[in-house]
Order: sequence, then C-alpha cells, then structure tokens
Amino acid sequence: MCRHLAYLGPPVRLSELLFDPPHALVRQSWAPREMRGGGTVNADGFGVGWYPAPGAPPARFRRDRPLWSDSGFAQLASVTMSGGVLAAVRSATVGMPVVESAVAPFTDAGWLFSHNGVIAGWPDSVTRLAGRLPVRDLLTMEAPTDSALLWALVRDRLRANVSPATALVETVTEVGRAAPGSRLNLLLTDGVTAAATTVGHSLWARRDGAAILLSSEPLDGHPAWAPLPDGQLIVASTATLDVIALPNGGRPE
Ligand code: GLN
Repeated sequence: MCRHLAYLGPPVRLSELLFDPPHALVRQSWAPREMRGGGTVNADGFGVGWYPAPGAPPARFRRDRPLWSDSGFAQLASVTMSGGVLAAVRSATVGMPVVESAVAPFTDAGWLFSHNGVIAGWPDSVTRLAGRLPVRDLLTMEAPTDSALLWALVRDRLRANVSPATALVETVTEVGRAAPGSRLNLLLTDGVTAAATTVGHSLWARRDGAAILLSSEPLDGHPAWAPLPDGQLIVASTATLDVIALPNGGRPE
C-alpha cells in the first residue's frame, strides 16, 4: 500500500530516483515487491516534492493518475536536479477518494510528509483525537483521508516547535493507541534531515558516500541497501542514520 522514498545528498536528477533504476518508483507503482495488508498496484496517483536549493522552499508536483502514464512529468524529472527529495506513489485505501489532493507529499512551511499505511477503524477510531486539532486545520484538510489527518497531527506538533522525530513518535503513539492495528509508516523531511517510522510496512536505507536514501523498496541491487526493522524511528541526514526503537514497537496498548 503506497510506496515512498526520501533522498538527501548531492543533487541528482529526479529521474535517477523515479525512473532510471531497475526498481525505481515507477516500477514500484506497477510491480511492487513488498506490499503488505492489501493493495496490488500503486496507480491512484503520484507526488514528488523537491528542494531546488538548500534552505529554499520545496516545489511539489502531484497527479491523480499512475506515475507510468505521465510522460510529460518523466521529461521534467530528467532535467530537474535536487539534493532533497520526497516522492510517493499511492494505492488508495478502500473507501478513500482518488483525488490529487489526497496524494503525498503533503507540504507546509518547508516540510514534506508522506504516509504509507492505514488508520484502522477510520474515521471513527480517531474522531476524538482529530477533535483536539484547531478547527481551522480540520476545515482546511486537503482531503478526507487518514494520511491527511496524520499530516495535520504531525504539523500541529511541528508548529509548536516539537522536533520532527518527536512529532512522528507522538503521532504514531497516540494514533496507535486510538486505532490499534494501524499501519503507520510516516516520512518527513525539511530537505536537510529526514525522519521516518516503520509500523507495519517495509522500509530500506541506503547510505552511499554523502547520500542517504530511505525507500519502501530498494531501487536497485546495490549491496548497501539494508532493511530497517519494524517498530522503529529513523532519523537520517547525509552524515547520520539513527534507528531507534519506538515505544512498545509503535503498537501501544
Ligand atoms: N491510507 C492512505 C491513502 O488512502 C495511504 C494508502 C497506502 O499506504 N496505500 O491514501
């Protein structure tokens, strides 16, 4: 269900992540290898956010159609360079709308965010939790989906100057408590650091010189790809990769 990736490092063409490698995101959109918990292809939209320069606000391109079907974007990706990228292909959870506004990455104030998974018992399981958000945030949610709510919950913490890692941990903990059985692979970047969680879905890391890639599935057969265990918080920059166990493995009682 959904595939996502984040890249930090020397500038690369977007196509080097999305189209060129043998198991690039475009291939993961029609032939993913590690889908868990339902879904077969990721054809309900794609999105890419990238930082044109360090510290610059990210650009974002999203569509509600399969990544393989947009030749115009493929051409754009082959000439667009960036050293900070977050990209996703979507397999809409049953019952959720297939619209561009539901596709990751979600963005605000320089952040890019993606969710791979599902909130169990949506929406009833999290109505009380959502009710604690500012009404304005609920009225302006981009789409009536679990991923958009997760972004609203994470963003609420970022606005309160909570660190990205803590924002993800707190969100996974409170949603896991309200909706046991949820799958909550979150991915958040500001173009300099990336934070991620593994709760219910695959995630791999590849460190290569001054570059770090976090990806639902390896893009190629490079020996540096390492699977990340379930129930972890990952905090990465071009120089560091920390893997820290989530409280109760991300599945609080
Ligand atoms: N539940 C989310 C959505 O419908 C994410 C789906 C996924 O990970 N496949 O957009």
